[in-house]
Amino acid sequence: MEKNNNKIVNVLKNILIGDLANYLNIYSKNFLLKNNNLIFTLEIEENKLDHFKKINNIIESEMNALDFISKIDFLMTSHKKINIETEKIKDDSKIAKYIIPVASGKGGVGKSTTSINLALAIQSLEMKVGILDADIYGPSLPRLTGINVKPDMYEKKLIPHNAFGLQSMSIGYLLPEDSATIWRGPMVMSAINQLLTEVKWNNLDFLIIDMPPGTGDAQLTLSQKVQLAGAIIVSTPQDLSLIDARKGLNMFKKVNVPILGIIENMSYFLCNKCNTKHEIFGHGGAKKEAIKLGVPFLGEIPLDIDLRSNSDEGKPIFIKSPENYISTLYLDIAKKIIKNVKKSNLESPKIIFD
Ligand code: ADP
Repeated sequence: MEKNNNKIVNVLKNILIGDLANYLNIYSKNFLLKNNNLIFTLEIEENKLDHFKKINNIIESEMNALDFISKIDFLMTSHKKINIETEKIKDDSKIAKYIIPVASGKGGVGKSTTSINLALAIQSLEMKVGILDADIYGPSLPRLTGINVKPDMYEKKLIPHNAFGLQSMSIGYLLPEDSATIWRGPMVMSAINQLLTEVKWNNLDFLIIDMPPGTGDAQLTLSQKVQLAGAIIVSTPQDLSLIDARKGLNMFKKVNVPILGIIENMSYFLCNKCNTKHEIFGHGGAKKEAIKLGVPFLGEIPLDIDLRSNSDEGKPIFIKSPENYISTLYLDIAKKIIKNVKKSNLESPKIIFD
């Protein structure tokens, strides 16, 4: 791998000489080789688009000589010099009545699985729901929905895909797999901004946002760009996951986003042979943590083989088996969420002019 990367840099060194020498640093620092797919991610000024396209063409023809490359993609982004940190999106109520991020301190705890099943459960309660996969570094919606085509555009806006009735949008519908792993902070912020504002969300009651794990740029951008109804934190019962969850929770608190509650995922294993609960990672940690931190505890989802296999074959359990015990757990949590957002909405101070 390392060897192939060096070969790529050597080819670039041979091409980007003379007038083009300035570009060597940009190209050689911003590429990713993944399964014979070479992806360049370039941040450019809009008026230099044609110039970059010419260089891309030269690079493409030379790179084809390398036998370990079968496909080359150039991803070009440009950013307006707006103050992303402080500029709020005007009219965010047009996106959705309630915008709810689902976050976790670390990856792999089941945040995406929880997001889609909750979105579906809320939808089943007669709500119009959208799901935005903002997990730029590891988008899961294409896998969870089985959708893998680019969305259409209308009036310069992306039209969300219909996923089991949900309006759905994911960076994974738009970009080659893994291409965003080399993105830096401003690119992440800009992408999230676009996913919120340049998508034709249609009259949503709820927009559920599957956040990237951690407490980084994405969380901050989001909390500063739109009014969030409240955040949901997903954790497993293990101590380490809980420590991370606490960090996530504190981050939202710091930026004044209410916490709708914590969900404990992979809470226990219900064995259908002996009909007992096995508490593989311990149990109840998230509930204790919620009580300690004074935030609502929304529920426990067991570790379940069907839940995993359904998700991985593009049919979330709430769709495949709505009568399943786990689907009813999601439904209970969905009801609590609807109740809690309405409550926190009522509790938020309102300025009255007379
Ligand atoms: P994250 O978004 O936190 O990275 P995912 O939702 O992608 O996590 O889940 C990671 C893996 O764990 C997936 O293969 C998913 O199907 C599986 N998974 C998630 N929740 C459960 C559960 N309760 N029981 C069994 N498998 C689960």
